[in-house]
Formats: sequence, C-alpha cells, structure tokens
Amino acid sequence: MQYGIHWFRRDLRIAGNPALQANWKINQGKVLGLFCFDKKFLGREDFSPNRFQLFLQTLLGLQASLKDAGGDLLFLDIGPEAAFASLIEKLTQEGKALPSLVSWNRDYEPFARNRDEKMEKWFKSRGIGVATERDHCLIEPHEIYKGEDRESAYQVYSPYSRKWMEHLKTAGIKARIEIQKRGLDYLDSLSKKGKTDPIFTVKWKDLLKTAEMGAVLEDYREKNSKWVTIPIPAAGTVEALKRLREFKKNITNYGKHRDIPSVDGTSKLSHFFKNGSLTGAQVIAELELDRPGKLKEGEEKFLKEIIWREFYYHILWHYPRVEKTAFLEKFQKLAWENNEVYFKAWKEGRTGYPIVDAGMRQLAQTGWMHNRVRMIVASFLTKDLLIDWRWGEKYFMEVLLDGDLAPNNGGWQWAASTGCDPQPYFRIFNPYLQSKKFDPNGSYIREFVPELKGLSDKEIHEPGVNRPKNYPAPIVEHSVQREKALKIYGAKS
Ligand SMILES: Cc1cc2nc3c(=O)[nH]c(=O)nc-3n(C[C@H](O)[C@H](O)[C@H](O)COP(=O)(O)OP(=O)(O)OC[C@H]3O[C@@H](n4cnc5c(N)ncnc54)[C@H](O)[C@@H]3O)c2cc1C
Repeated sequence: MQYGIHWFRRDLRIAGNPALQANWKINQGKVLGLFCFDKKFLGREDFSPNRFQLFLQTLLGLQASLKDAGGDLLFLDIGPEAAFASLIEKLTQEGKALPSLVSWNRDYEPFARNRDEKMEKWFKSRGIGVATERDHCLIEPHEIYKGEDRESAYQVYSPYSRKWMEHLKTAGIKARIEIQKRGLDYLDSLSKKGKTDPIFTVKWKDLLKTAEMGAVLEDYREKNSKWVTIPIPAAGTVEALKRLREFKKNITNYGKHRDIPSVDGTSKLSHFFKNGSLTGAQVIAELELDRPGKLKEGEEKFLKEIIWREFYYHILWHYPRVEKTAFLEKFQKLAWENNEVYFKAWKEGRTGYPIVDAGMRQLAQTGWMHNRVRMIVASFLTKDLLIDWRWGEKYFMEVLLDGDLAPNNGGWQWAASTGCDPQPYFRIFNPYLQSKKFDPNGSYIREFVPELKGLSDKEIHEPGVNRPKNYPAPIVEHSVQREKALKIYGAKS
C-alpha cells in the first residue's frame, strides 16, 4: 500500500493545511497523522502548563476531526527522530511498506529549522520522500528581500510592509489566499451537513498491529490539568473561525478601539495563530483583506498587525541571534540593575503603578494581555525597573497563552529599544500619562485592581494620598528611573 505520513507540529488543523493537502493528493487520501512530543519540552525553563493545556486540547480536537474524516492521529511522546525510527522498525518487523512520503509545514524558529534540516536528511537517507510547504506565514521570511539581493533582509517595518503589500497583489499570493477560501468553504459545508465526508482512507490500525504504542494524549491532558491556573479557552479551527466572524462584525471600529484595553476591540486570535488552528492567510481570506487601496480604516489597521507578525518572523529567520541577544549590538551589554524584589512585584502586579498592575494581573488571570498594556508593562520593566528585557520575555512565555518566540521577542526588543525598528531609547513611556490616555475613566484598572475601585477617575491613575492601605505605594519614582535609564542607554549610544 502506498501511503504518506503528515507530521503535525504547529499546524493543528485539516482545513487549508498545505502540506497535508499535498500529501493527500499524492497519496490519494492515504495519509496518516503523527505528532511527536519530546518530553524534554516539559523541563524547559519557560514551560507554560496553561499554554500546554490549550495545545493538548487543540491536539485532541484535531485527533477527533481526523477520525471523523476517516483518518487518524498517532501521538508519540518521544522526539521525532526516535519516533520515526521506532515506527520504521515496527513497520519493518510487521512486513509493512514504509511511507512513500513524509510531509510537514515549515517552521521558522532556530530550533525547528535545525531539527527539520536534520530530519529531512534522515528521511532521504532512508529512501523516504519529504514534502514541505509554507503555512504559518502568508509570505515566508525569505520571500521578501530588498532590491534584487535575496540575502538582503529588511530591518525596518514600514518598507517591509510596503513590499509585503506589493506581494499581496501578485498571482502567486492570491492563489494562496484562494486555497484558504476553499478551506473555509470546506469547514462551512461540514457544519451544514452535520457530518464529515471520509476524505482519509487509512488508519494506523490498518497498518500496524501495535498502533496502541502511542502514549495516550488524554492522559497528558489529565495530568497537566493539575497545573493549570486559568480557564482555558475553547480550542480548534471551528472555534477560531467563530471568533474571527464575531470580530468581523466590528472590524471597522478596530482602528478606534484597538488601543483601549477596557474595550473588547481586538480579535483575540493570537492563541489560535500560535497552534495553527488559524493562519494569517485564512484571516485575510475570510475578511477579504486582499484588496489593497480599497480597505476601510479598521481593516487596513488590522492587516498591518498581521504584517507586524510576519515582520517579526522575517527578523527571527534572518537574524536568529535575536533569540538570545539584542538585535542592536550597541545595546547587547546594558548595565541592568536586575533587582529581584522589583521583578517579583512586577510579576505579581504590585508595583504601585495601577496601569502596570492591572496588565500584569490580567496576564496572570487570563493568559492574555492587551497589546497597549504589553507595551506599557514592558517599557516599565526595562526603563523604570531597569531589568533586562529577557527576564520579562521569559516570564511572558511562562504565562501567555499566545506565547510565541518571534512576536514575543520582537515586542520585548521593541519596548526595550534593543530591537530592529524599536521605540527610540530616549522616548520613555510615562505610565501615568499612558494610563490617562488609554484608560481615561479607569475602567480597565478597576476591573483588574479592585482595591482602587473607589477612587475617582482622576485619582485612579496615580492614587497619591487617597491610596487604599491594601494597595502598595509606587516601588520606584518614574522621573528618577527615567534619568537612570537615559544614562544607561546613553553610555552605550
Ligand atoms: C512585549 C510584547 C510581547 C508580545 N508577545 C507576544 C506573543 O508572545 N505572542 C503574540 O502572538 N503576540 C505577542 N505580542 C504582540 C501583540 O501584543 C499580540 O499579538 C496581541 O495583543 C494579541 O491580541 P489580538 O489577537 O487581540 O491582537 P489583534 O490586535 O487583534 O491583532 C491581530 C493579530 O495581529 C498580530 N499582532 C498584533 N499586534 C502585534 C504586534 N505588536 N506584533 C506582532 N504581531 C502582532 C497577532 O498575531 C494578532 O493576533 C507582544 C507584544 C508586546 C509589546
């Protein structure tokens, strides 16, 4: 029997999954799904049980959808090389054919690139074909370059985004969006029919007697649930599409509302992007954002954010060193004070700066924080508390449901003024002014810092003498810290 294996990683969906589709076509529906979970991942310093739970739920949903569609997903809790080696051994023992093709969608993080390169050689050396596709970004990091020089990466967002928009008009990119439109139609037809057509025609048990060798995914979910500290949102493509369509009703207000944290004005799609339940291409397809020059203000602003995400992937792919160090060499060794007591207060939302505390508590309670507030708390950590941006970046990865290396690193380096196209170091956010501007009547602060509920709209940003006893005084003085930050950065400029 000729069949293929699709190696799922962060593309946890069937509809509009390019590498899965390619494999499916070549093998005429005989494609088996595999997910390899390397247990080493559980020991990572920035491991997040909450995000892992969302991931497991997404994976369970994918397994169920594949089964409904006549297919299957095997979950092995070992790294990919060991997983595929053990599969091949079992297939050989049972006298079965090896897969003709293993497919996956490309990943742009340094660890993943390295792993994929090794795995490609590994398969080829065993006579197994490999097919990889683009999925995670609409336009891959290497597809955009300055002028004619393919090696020449952008370092500034605006020219990058102009080039990105030019690509959007090309037939090749339009075709990618069209494929996603068909993927969305497929999902809609499923919900109308109430049942799934058996598009896959092979299951693991058809191939292997020992298919139960896969660790039980449900067990992982059960065990990990003990460490979960927040309500985990509903996962998967159908849920993502539902959220996208709700957001669609309000997209024209996005420009007006996106900076106001008390308003539900942003898409809240980021955790779906992280797992590939949804992609930027699908969002563009559904919202019909591929109409340059004809978009309304809110639509255009929203598309720009999708481009920011791709920009940070572009940076990570071209400059993988940013994962560990500042993009700007001059700021690689800043004289951070790294005060542990301040860091703890920041994490707990007890700095005495209401807007900062509200953001940090929103993060701890929900696993998400509004983008404007992410910028405020990141600026506060680095330029008021004088703590290394990497401490904040790591903490965000521990807590965010959407924690994702490229945009997280990009956001932190932007706020710390160490990245490409960053906030200039001398433009330091004043947390009180940010608070007054973006949360004018204190609704956001009241929601997450209930101790301050009783203060007036004016006082709530900077409590002063009417500060309730159960709310801390500011742990540092903004004007003093600002001067210190200017000196620290100035010494290296
Ligand atoms: C310090 C800091 C850390 C961040 N860490 C992450 C992270 O780990 N994961 C993550 O997905 N985003 C991160 N962001 C970017 C941004 O805050 C979130 O993507 C956004 O808040 C998610 O909410 P949303 O889906 O409602 O966004 P929307 O406003 O609805 O935007 C739509 C999508 O565009 C993308 N996007 C929006 N803003 C940005 C941005 N500034 N940079 C890159 N992409 C953007 C996201 O994919 C988002 O889902 C970070 C930003 C900062 C300042």
